[in-house]
Amino acid sequence: MSKPRILIIGAGYGGMMTATRLIKELSPNDAEITLVNKHNYHYQTTWLHQPAAGTLHHDRTRMLIKKVVDPSRVKFIQDTVTEIKPKENKVITENGELAYDYLVIGLGFESNTFGIKGLDTHAFTIRSIDTVRKIRDHIEYQFASYNHDEEPKDHKLTIAVGGAGLTGVEFVAELANRVPELCREYDIDRSKVRIINIEGAPTILPNFDKELVDYAIHQLESKGVEFKLNTFIKECTEESVIVQEKDSEDLEEIKAGTIVWTGGVKANSIVEKSGFQTNRGKIEVDDALRSPEYPNVFVVGDCSLVMDKETNRPCPPTAQLAMQQGVALAKNIRHILHNEPTEPFVYKNKGTVASLGAGDAIAVVGNKRIKGAPAAALKKIVDDRYLLMLGGVGLMVKKGKLNLFK
Ligand code: FAD
Repeated sequence: MSKPRILIIGAGYGGMMTATRLIKELSPNDAEITLVNKHNYHYQTTWLHQPAAGTLHHDRTRMLIKKVVDPSRVKFIQDTVTEIKPKENKVITENGELAYDYLVIGLGFESNTFGIKGLDTHAFTIRSIDTVRKIRDHIEYQFASYNHDEEPKDHKLTIAVGGAGLTGVEFVAELANRVPELCREYDIDRSKVRIINIEGAPTILPNFDKELVDYAIHQLESKGVEFKLNTFIKECTEESVIVQEKDSEDLEEIKAGTIVWTGGVKANSIVEKSGFQTNRGKIEVDDALRSPEYPNVFVVGDCSLVMDKETNRPCPPTAQLAMQQGVALAKNIRHILHNEPTEPFVYKNKGTVASLGAGDAIAVVGNKRIKGAPAAALKKIVDDRYLLMLGGVGLMVKKGKLNLFK
């Protein structure tokens, strides 16, 4: 009898964790496993604010999939998925089609610009190695070319960042460290450079309490970051953002040489385009992480919607959730293949850490609030723990942040 075919699409946190755990849960005779991903590497999305700002080389955030996922157990195909045909048990890719008996969707997120005029065209996003390389190069070009202009335009040196959630704040924090280096390198007076973080809500980092948020604002303002809160981006042009303060009728144009949008993400649109029933663009999975419409389709990470039983609200889309799902799903697939009952997935919130740049961070772990160097160390531990879970001590030593030899 032929082996059941398990197809995993997307090698992000959810897809990679599912693939590596399936190798442990199943014997080679249990199933044929295939992993499809756009690139031949996996990258840690949660680190992308660093290469975007130029404070860490992008190679530190990525690894070849074949080095982490044993090619003798999982067939890796580098290809781009264009459509899922769940009624036909097929996935269409740019180069052909793949049939499956069980499908795991882990295609991650895409930027959500909420229809704000010009953002799609003129703003950069922090999404992948490709997008962050562009941001880093663009910022560097603005600095490098500034003194060559006949009449230097100071606004070339302004970096406007839309959104003050985790991504936006971690990015401006890295910029605050990077800008003095760029100024030294390109002979530019630091006072000419502006880093502006624009946010519609009255505060930054909505998942942290006031004491930690105040600390973060104080630390970042002291490094020259400007926050514009209660301020909505109404339009983005090639060299400016047009903003409006809450309760004001006046529009303000902020000229900027670099505009980065971090203000919203949504599930990969392939899910909705493929005709799945969705809730806010995501598939609301059952407690075995299965699509309610197709019992052989499972969803992990940012394409899935899971209710947090403690808060009765959707779990926020995080790497933490995607990893926990990958681990649980691999076990459940083993149960299914062995005709055993599945185990319900329960999300365990292990806390949140927001980096404020080198050596500084804020964190909430259970009832504890942590700030400064201890929180920054915790961030590195969280990052390295993922590598340990994914590829063992070898991967952690090679790619981790606590490695003293790098
Ligand atoms: P992803 O990790 O996004 O991976 C999706 C994969 O699918 C990618 O490899 C992609 O190339 C591939 N793919 C996409 N489309 C296709 C296609 N059509 N065909 C083939 N392959 C495709 N979360 C936390 O828990 N803690 C944090 O501190 C944190 N910080 C963050 C900081 C930043 C800067 C950002 C951007 C996000 C952060 N997040 C954080 C959120 C976290 O990164 C996401 O929730 C997580 O990456 C989702 O994992 P995933 O497995 O769903 O997808």
